[in-house]
Amino acid sequence: MASTDIYHEMIIDYSRNPANFGSLDDPDVTHHDSNPLCGDSLDMDLKFDGDTLSEIKFRGKGCAICMACSSVLTEIAKGKPIGEVRAIQKGDLLAELGLEHLQAVRIKCALLSLKILKFALYKHIAASHPDAESLKEEAAGLY
Ligand SMILES: [Zn+2]
Repeated sequence: MASTDIYHEMIIDYSRNPANFGSLDDPDVTHHDSNPLCGDSLDMDLKFDGDTLSEIKFRGKGCAICMACSSVLTEIAKGKPIGEVRAIQKGDLLAELGLEHLQAVRIKCALLSLKILKFALYKHIAASHPDAESLKEEAAGLY
């Protein structure tokens, strides 16, 4: 079987049985985002134990690529120190499913979960550093 077929099977399997799908009781952070062009719409819950992302779950609706990437991302991120989760790059995620050459129109499907995770991490970090919020507002209000 060619490697592209293996990746295709993985995407189908994950879309039927997504990993870490659902919600957490009493999450530390929740973030929502959507990709209106495709109809992907996800919520992600994170729970931290000190500097470790101890639990992560996502829920919502998404196409096969979106569900597969969300599954893989949560599997990569779960149990990792915040610094390592922060360092996850889009190329790392795309490579896990052989999606490096995905068409531009589908990239948002693949990266929605990573975008949500990064925003959720920002919320968590900002919550423990109240100054971060004013920095964000200052940056957004520059022009
Ligand atoms: Zn999609």
